Amino acid sequence: MSDQANRLKAATHAVSRACTVCREVQRDLERVKQITKDDRSPVTVADFASQAVVAHVLRERLGSVVLVAEEAADELRKQISEGQAAVADAVVNAVRIVWPEATLDQVLDAIDIGGADPLTQGAHGYWTLDPIDGTKGFLRGGQYAVALAWVENGSPQVGVLGCPNLSKDFNRPLDDPDPQGTMYLALAADGLAELSADDPDGDPLSIRRLPRAEGEPLRMCESVESGHTSHDNSARIMEILGEQSAPVRLDSQAKYAVVGRGQADVYLRMPTRPGYVERIWDHAAGSLVAVESGCFVTDVNGNELDFSHGRGLEKNKGVVVAPAEIHGRLIGAIQELGLNVPAQ
Ligand code: AMP
Ligand code: MG
Repeated sequence: MSDQANRLKAATHAVSRACTVCREVQRDLERVKQITKDDRSPVTVADFASQAVVAHVLRERLGSVVLVAEEAADELRKQISEGQAAVADAVVNAVRIVWPEATLDQVLDAIDIGGADPLTQGAHGYWTLDPIDGTKGFLRGGQYAVALAWVENGSPQVGVLGCPNLSKDFNRPLDDPDPQGTMYLALAADGLAELSADDPDGDPLSIRRLPRAEGEPLRMCESVESGHTSHDNSARIMEILGEQSAPVRLDSQAKYAVVGRGQADVYLRMPTRPGYVERIWDHAAGSLVAVESGCFVTDVNGNELDFSHGRGLEKNKGVVVAPAEIHGRLIGAIQELGLNVPAQ
């Protein structure tokens, strides 16, 4: 097996197991809130547990790993030292769903594997992980994702996007969690495939977007959160393209998958405040999923996303995803509206 195929296999297992953990915690939201006495703690618990599981599986299958992930165990260690172990205990219990013999120390150490610095340790490539992308979606029972990618020379080469609540059935409402969920597997220049999120050893189904029928309205998707993308500006852009249909709003990188599989045609992420720098783990896996389906993925200036500047996409602003023939028109509309903002 080639190195990249080997990485894809390891990532598929890691993400699938993390999806199982997240799904169980989401099913038990109220109980977790009671144990930890905090409304946001279920997402905290699932975040840490998902990161520990992914790091553990990658290390088990690949040996040493350079992993750049969103969470660090410092806060948990501090709470434990202050005699407040409720969240840490809940994390260990969640991890044990898929890693039964895990101890507290092993879980904390696994979380801290994710503390690599891409600039100093990622010269030969690095993994990047969002253990739960779309935390608001997770809490409201909507869409969220476990997003893991392997990046080399500034661009993602392997991506696995686990979407525990996303149905294969396009007709199922996005706020109606699917019993299995889906996982998208992408290898650079090798295409996109789909698997049930709970079946890492299953037979992946190859996915390619079907061309849109002539005259069909464009379906645009974007974040639910108006703080993460300007809903007003994306509406103005679509208006220039002559489109008035209502946007589809969903949390997380599931948006990249929804466009990649042809359920929507456009994903726009229009900057809301000048200083915000997108995080690498919010885009690495998802962008490869969309590229391998045949879409263009750039920022609002038409530049490719550049993952070689540390934990942030320092050279990019916003995100524009669409098949080639639509992408050019979107960038044209963005320029016409003066919304192309150079990165600092
Ligand atoms: P979404 O689910 O598309 O709304 O994106 C969720 C991600 O948005 C989170 O993981 C955050 O890292 C990221 N985020 C936080 N603040 C902003 C912001 N001002 N602009 C864009 N993205 C943000
Ligand atoms: Mg995120």
